[in-house]
Amino acid sequence: MSNRQLCMVMDLNKCIGCHTCTSACKTQWTNRNGREYMYWNNVETKPGDGYPRYYEASGGGFDENGQLKMGKLPSAEDYGEPWEYNYEEALMTGTDPWLRPNVKPTWGPNWDEDEGEGLYPNSYHFYLPRICNHCTNPACLAACSRNAIYKRQEDGIVLIDQERCRGYRYCVTACPYKKVYFNEQVSKSEKCIFCYPRIEKGLPTACAQQCVGRIRWIGYRDDEDGPIHTLVDKYRVALPLHAEWGTQPNVFYVPPTAPDAYDADGTPADDDRIPLSYLESLFGKGVRAALDTLESERAKKRAGKESELMDTLIAYKHSDMFKLG
Ligand code: SF4
Ligand code: SF4
Repeated sequence: MSNRQLCMVMDLNKCIGCHTCTSACKTQWTNRNGREYMYWNNVETKPGDGYPRYYEASGGGFDENGQLKMGKLPSAEDYGEPWEYNYEEALMTGTDPWLRPNVKPTWGPNWDEDEGEGLYPNSYHFYLPRICNHCTNPACLAACSRNAIYKRQEDGIVLIDQERCRGYRYCVTACPYKKVYFNEQVSKSEKCIFCYPRIEKGLPTACAQQCVGRIRWIGYRDDEDGPIHTLVDKYRVALPLHAEWGTQPNVFYVPPTAPDAYDADGTPADDDRIPLSYLESLFGKGVRAALDTLESERAKKRAGKESELMDTLIAYKHSDMFKLG
């Protein structure tokens, strides 16, 4: 256990799927030296197969008795192989009129982007950005036979000691979110580091700093005046992803709202367009109460009344979204 826990909340109602967060993370941390295939931050479309493909069915985490479960190691195809283009031929010598990838991709981090589910006019999808959850009970840490994975006392960030890691990959299989990656060039495991060098300077993570939709808050769970406490504990509108996997994630999501479904005559029916059962399969039984709270607070705001929750979610000033002290 750490003394304090740094957390992130993401409002799925505001994510526009622009992948700026992914680009910010990739250019900062994973565009070279064996990390080319890794996306410490990815944005997947839900419903969808995710990244790496089928990770939700890949196992890992803890069972109901708290016993660690080992899962499946994703294949290179499950992540999607990175490719290069024929820049020389297409752009320099002109011997090929087209830019072409040097492999034939079959899967990648946005392969099923915007596909979603349902039939028009009741089709739906939403975006789910994911980073390591810096869990309170990290399965990656429990699985590591080298004691190479640790949680920082001061902020609960989960890191891999690169000196101790021997690349056994137990952490990769044990993490049910599949947020540890194996670097074949150095034979070590690597993962999101919550941009700790930035955090130590009082700066938010690169993904949060660059987020176009302003969907990400960062702060300490025990700061009762901070946005994390407001969204997670006070109004309970931010919920962990797959809490049933037993790792106690510290990334929380405000679930997506959607217009009502239409009936056969094309009139709005009193029916959820995004099935509640689907949202519950991701975020647990607290979803209904969270959606009800969001709806009632939004109605208050529309009626010109005060709403602390809506003011927090609107995030008038980007800098107010980060409380790192
Ligand atoms: S999300 Fe996975 S890698 Fe991150 S702390 Fe939790 S178990 Fe470890
Ligand atoms: S930058 Fe923000 S809005 Fe864009 S995809 Fe990432 S989380 Fe969503």
